[in-house]
Amino acid sequence: MRVTIVGAGPAGLYAAILIRRARPDIEIAVFEQNTRDATFGFGVVFSDQALGFLRAGDPDTVALIEPHMQRWPDIEVVHKGQRVTIDGVGFAAIGRLDLLQLLLQRAAQLGIHPKFECRQETGNLPDDADLIIGADGINSIVRTSAPEEFGERVKNLSNRFIWYGATRGFDALTQSFVETRLGKFNAHHYRYQTDRSTFIIETTEAIWDRAGFAELDAETTRSVCEELFDDVLEGARLVDNNSDWRQFPNLACERYFSGNRVLIGDALHTAHFSVGSGTRLAFEDAASLITALTSTGWNVPAGLALFQDMRQPALQKITDAATRSAFWYEAFDEHMALEPLQFALGYIRRAGRLDADKLRCFAPGFAAQLEASGISLSI
Ligand SMILES: Cc1cc2nc3c(=O)[nH]c(=O)nc-3n(C[C@H](O)[C@H](O)[C@H](O)COP(=O)(O)OP(=O)(O)OC[C@H]3O[C@@H](n4cnc5c(N)ncnc54)[C@H](O)[C@@H]3O)c2cc1C
Repeated sequence: MRVTIVGAGPAGLYAAILIRRARPDIEIAVFEQNTRDATFGFGVVFSDQALGFLRAGDPDTVALIEPHMQRWPDIEVVHKGQRVTIDGVGFAAIGRLDLLQLLLQRAAQLGIHPKFECRQETGNLPDDADLIIGADGINSIVRTSAPEEFGERVKNLSNRFIWYGATRGFDALTQSFVETRLGKFNAHHYRYQTDRSTFIIETTEAIWDRAGFAELDAETTRSVCEELFDDVLEGARLVDNNSDWRQFPNLACERYFSGNRVLIGDALHTAHFSVGSGTRLAFEDAASLITALTSTGWNVPAGLALFQDMRQPALQKITDAATRSAFWYEAFDEHMALEPLQFALGYIRRAGRLDADKLRCFAPGFAAQLEASGISLSI
């Protein structure tokens, strides 16, 4: 049996690793358009839960990754200059390039060597493969070669965001909301090395427009952003890596496969970065696909149908939560009228109905602080 994987991002590499573990006899070809050490972005973050799941799929992958991770137990929300700690949410982060290099190392241990600088084109996908896995990200050519067959729906959110790095670590995953001379801005920032952080800046379309960012070159944009977040950066610099203002694309597909082609990861769906789940979902999709294929004896049509049946409910739940979270950010400037504690409560509830009991259980210190301040936890 031959499997072709398009894309050596987290989804494609993890799929290759799991296939080789399940069926050493299968021929696997992985094609990646970029060079071996190219990547966009800086760090990615996982919840403790996501790491547990990864451990179940391939403990050796987690053993390689874990020593390189930064960890912290809380989220901090900074608003009106006040820092509110929300306890109980364990997170770990790693540089995206490190993560990819470690996955490549694990793949090489298993005899898988992706072909780099080998972009696949729509009309040119190998026709001798029994299964083609489209792990080629948001602009997937496997999906866009037959968008109707996959039933793709793409809609951009209206906020603008830009993904930078910062030359310092931060104590926790922090959400800084600031009111500046150009209007209201938010930064999601967290360290992925002791002295390096991801620093994603977001604002509304109207503020972005008024600020005139469309007219600024990359260097001026970076220095304006440094100035806006001067108090947060405390002298650190922002680092550019193909950083430009974008609108987040909400992508969903009605069908996960068409013939012998199947989509996983960002090629299949997106989940707003405020829930930090894109990479985790990519890994989970790969694991679910290989489980489905294994349970159907590697019968491709049956395995792909089972993959969609098994995966869809869980995926829907998390992408729905990510969409609710994204909608909270779409109006974050209005929420900023709230006082810091009330604002932090709205923030932590943005993705779903975290009722009083669940909140007390999930974030006992934060719930106690709210109740001590006379803020009701009821919805
Ligand atoms: C601002 C921002 C912040 C984010 N933060 C987080 C976070 O904190 N935590 C998290 O888990 N996720 C985060 N994500 C999401 C995360 O980056 C993606 O969800 C994740 O990378 C998906 O993995 P993937 O393998 O499906 O796709 P990708 O990582 O996009 O990999 C796809 C690969 O396919 C290759 N490729 C594409 N087309 C072709 C072709 N035609 N031929 C050959 N190769 C091709 C690409 O070069 C790429 O290497 C964030 C995303 C954004 C935009």
